[in-house]
Amino acid sequence: MAAIHLSRGKNKEHSMDRLRNIPKLDLILKDERFLNLNRKYGEKLVKLCTKEGLESMRSAILAGGDGEHISIDLDTICFFTERCIEERSRSSLVNVINATGVVLHTNLGRSLLSEKAAEAAARVARNYVSLEFDMESGNRGHRDEAAAAVIRELTGAEDAAVVNNNAAAVLIVLAAISKDSEVLVSRGELVEIGGSFRIPDVMELSGGRLKEVGTTNMTRLSDYEKSISENTGLLLKVHTSNYRIVGFHSETSVSDLSNLSKKTGIPLYVDLGSGSLMETREFTSEHEDTVQEVLRSGADIISFSGDKLLGGPQAGIIAGRRDLVEKVRNHPLMRALRPDKMTLAALEATLKSWLLEDGEGIPVKHILTRDKALIRVECDRMCSRLQQMGFEASVREVSSASGGGTLPASDIPSYGVHVKAKANSLLSAEDLRTLLRLGEDPVIARVTKDEVVLDLRTVREWEQNIIESKFSLIAKGWW
Ligand SMILES: *Cc1c(COP(=O)(O)O)cnc(C)c1O
Repeated sequence: MAAIHLSRGKNKEHSMDRLRNIPKLDLILKDERFLNLNRKYGEKLVKLCTKEGLESMRSAILAGGDGEHISIDLDTICFFTERCIEERSRSSLVNVINATGVVLHTNLGRSLLSEKAAEAAARVARNYVSLEFDMESGNRGHRDEAAAAVIRELTGAEDAAVVNNNAAAVLIVLAAISKDSEVLVSRGELVEIGGSFRIPDVMELSGGRLKEVGTTNMTRLSDYEKSISENTGLLLKVHTSNYRIVGFHSETSVSDLSNLSKKTGIPLYVDLGSGSLMETREFTSEHEDTVQEVLRSGADIISFSGDKLLGGPQAGIIAGRRDLVEKVRNHPLMRALRPDKMTLAALEATLKSWLLEDGEGIPVKHILTRDKALIRVECDRMCSRLQQMGFEASVREVSSASGGGTLPASDIPSYGVHVKAKANSLLSAEDLRTLLRLGEDPVIARVTKDEVVLDLRTVREWEQNIIESKFSLIAKGWW
């Protein structure tokens, strides 16, 4: 990579002279080389990129240093133009290597789809499909029918519906069931999920009236009982997915609320957040009630995300009593919140992997339950390679996290490679982290106590080779 040095005053005038030699845009575009580009990429893009190319050429010349030697001819301008066209046609969503150990990293796209789910999405993307078409009768069907059928089988729910994400699910359930009535929520559960999604605000949007119950740390069944009036339309329980209240604390269980719901005829809605189908003790010390357990405890309707512990595409899954799900499905908001065919195909494939207990078919499950002894072996191997390159590196125990606002209090034991810069280098750990992030195949890592930490739980085998090559370039000073 050519370094461009900062301008030194004395060459400024010379540079200005050279700038005057750059041909006019109109003339450039009439040249055969540019007419060729037009045929390949279209006039509009070529004109835009020629302008941009000329701009970067001007800045390089003005900056002096190596830039001064740029020759002002049409070949060079053509080179700058093509580079701009290339940059513009590349996707801005680049693959990154997640060495943070955060399995459901919201900024990195949360869950990884299985091959089957990704293939299903790609296949329906390319074809006309039976999305809202009942093949037997030739009549119109529901687009989420196939996914709903698997959700029913997996969870025991009477019926299910799918929307774009769980935030949308909360909105539409509240709008369909509690509009113009009071919704009882514990003061300990008035949560903010992130990105300005706060339960009180969503409630207002939905037309339901929030009635707070109990206190932040204590909400008893009697608090709910006392607050019920003829205006009460819904009991809402929100899973405090992204934080935990510890110490003097008690909340009312789903089964107690369900008894109250049966006694009064007021439905009970549980927003589960991550909605695990598996026993979370398989990979951490914390137990989180599974979707099946919450339904068995008597929730009338529940919702959870498709891309948290379920390990599927971004989606919001609503499941429960048939009459309530039907109300949600027929609500006008459904049209605004319904998922597209790719999401539905990927979701159905993911759900079927759960049904078939095809563990390998669900990368999120596989990553969360990976044996830490095997992670240690991979860390040891990477560590010794980095040491051979001259880095100060060691392998230590670290904690992975499930992330994405799930299981906030649990840590998942793992191993990480801790790297300091080379002994004779001026690079800080922050510098090292930045260099790993730049260029092709960005690697996202943490820094703690002036060391870069690479938690290999979330790094696949072929990605480990890429990480090592990046370190090898850094060791040679090629950056
Ligand atoms: C994550 C979460 C949501 C939002 O789900 P998205 O799928 O991210 O829209 C809503 N409620 C709870 C309790 C959550 O944990």
